[in-house]
Amino acid sequence: MSDNEHKKIELPINITVRELAAHIDASVIQIIKSLMSNGVMANINQQIDFDTAAIVAAEMGYEAVLEKQEAPEGKESGEVPLWRRMIAGEDESLLTPRPPVVTILGHVDHGKTSLLDVIRHANVAEGETGGITQHIGAYQVEHNGRTITFLDTPGHAAFTAMRARGAQGADIVVLVVAADDGVMPQTKEAIAHARAARVPILVALNKIDKANANPDMVKRQLGDNGLVPDEWDGQTIVVPVSAKQKLGIEDLLEAITLVADNTDIRANPKGRVIGTVIEAKLDKTKGVIATFLVQNGTLETGDLVVAGNAYGRLRALFDYRGHKVQKAGPSVPVSVMGLNDVPAAGDLFRVVHTEKEARQIILERNEAAQKQAAAPKKATLEELFANYQAGETRELRLILKADVQGSLEPIVNSLNELSKGDISVNILHAETGNISENDVMLASASKAIIVGFGVQADVSARRLADSEGVSIRLYEIIYRLTEDVEKALKGMLKPEFIEKLVGKAEILKIFVVSKVGKIAGCRVREGEIRRNCKVRLYRGKDILYEGEIASLKHEKEDEREIRQGFECGLGLKNFNDIQVGDVIVGYILEKKVE
Ligand code: GDP
Repeated sequence: MSDNEHKKIELPINITVRELAAHIDASVIQIIKSLMSNGVMANINQQIDFDTAAIVAAEMGYEAVLEKQEAPEGKESGEVPLWRRMIAGEDESLLTPRPPVVTILGHVDHGKTSLLDVIRHANVAEGETGGITQHIGAYQVEHNGRTITFLDTPGHAAFTAMRARGAQGADIVVLVVAADDGVMPQTKEAIAHARAARVPILVALNKIDKANANPDMVKRQLGDNGLVPDEWDGQTIVVPVSAKQKLGIEDLLEAITLVADNTDIRANPKGRVIGTVIEAKLDKTKGVIATFLVQNGTLETGDLVVAGNAYGRLRALFDYRGHKVQKAGPSVPVSVMGLNDVPAAGDLFRVVHTEKEARQIILERNEAAQKQAAAPKKATLEELFANYQAGETRELRLILKADVQGSLEPIVNSLNELSKGDISVNILHAETGNISENDVMLASASKAIIVGFGVQADVSARRLADSEGVSIRLYEIIYRLTEDVEKALKGMLKPEFIEKLVGKAEILKIFVVSKVGKIAGCRVREGEIRRNCKVRLYRGKDILYEGEIASLKHEKEDEREIRQGFECGLGLKNFNDIQVGDVIVGYILEKKVE
């Protein structure tokens, strides 16, 4: 077919297989086949990028052009961690590349610790002061003039804890798979974690020195799990290594820089300081010692920080070699002293200006945590979906456990069939066997629910599910399972709302009110500001806050609305980072009438 016979079609930057089929009038099976022949394994609900979609479209006789309008805002924003959103809110021109942050995951005994040690020893110039090795939970290496940050806390526990708190510290996951053992249950879990966190995966095929190593078998297994090796025209870089014989280590580092080059890894070194707590402990003589990974801005000695429920002025900063440093920029791990309490791994930290502000943030956090604790722990399907409705996520995440392989497949197929419109079922992990603690951890970290067919939940899994508020549903009949999920999906279809602007106000002055926080002294410039309207806070073009009004007053009197030209004191719910010149835009949501 010549070019001029191709029908033009506009496609978005990302599209699911199902949507693409609908767009180009082909069956889903045709699309999946075409993708497979191009080395891409995708299921019906999977998103593929524009370039891939364009190739498939061309095979079906269409010429794809990129849709002009911007991608709809924040479909997944519920998943995007705060620090990433903050970086996204930074002025584009101030963003500079930062080192990629890498975490190593994989099945037990496949060589995570060995690999981290080898990389560290081969590439870190250690201890000019006598070979003292500091283990602070993260280190940095140089490779061909590029810096890479490694999180040195292998295993799911740390990664899950970080994700569970919405921190998502890593930019790249290196999945270690032993060439003599292949893809194992924890390998699959690690894949599911990385996917749920939308972090690119790179495979280190370890133990290639072993006589019984079988790289081809492992590559096939990886392909079966959606990680088709690049040498088989897939998207996943697989690097053969041996931690024991120190083979392939430089290739692995090279591959990491390659993946990093294809990922947007930037931050504003001069921006607001925010990052993640990697680990923390109480030292008998030195007090609290915590390792911070800076993710935006530059942390300096003397800064006042809030980290989880702890705060304090940082007395000293040390790098991973144990050297005292004055400052640490994006992607740099530092161990810090000066906090008044031990924060948890995965907590966010940020720099604040006053102790009062620090205490206020902690107070608000505690209140929010108490509210959550008071809420019924175990979410029913219906409640869970109500949460989805309230949030931005339009995706129902499931972890499926079944008694035998034979029942897994039909359930996955019928669940995938249930996706409707912009709401989809995303099966993060499907496997045979009883429901374990690991399943619950994955569910908790990914805000998923667990459905079991013909299986039981271990006692320890049930206990963890109770404490984490993860819902486990057990079924013995397939259609009951699919029926429940379908009902729930219908409940998720939210009525469409349209935003109606009610007014705009400009902040002219900031008042600090004890026990309340900051109040914005505003003048309403347009329309009116209503006590019960929703608001956005703009600083220039950036939206710093979206939420509700906590208080609206005119000369100390509570008011229901303030009209154009009048002044008011306005408090934002759970938000204090306001400045003179910020603009508050008020709007209401109206149900769309067909
Ligand atoms: P982890 O549980 O994933 O952290 O695995 P470890 O790093 O503790 O390694 C588990 C075992 O495999 C140890 O006995 C290592 O010595 C061994 N091991 C690690 N890497 C290699 C390798 O490349 N070749 C061989 N033959 N053994 C390895």
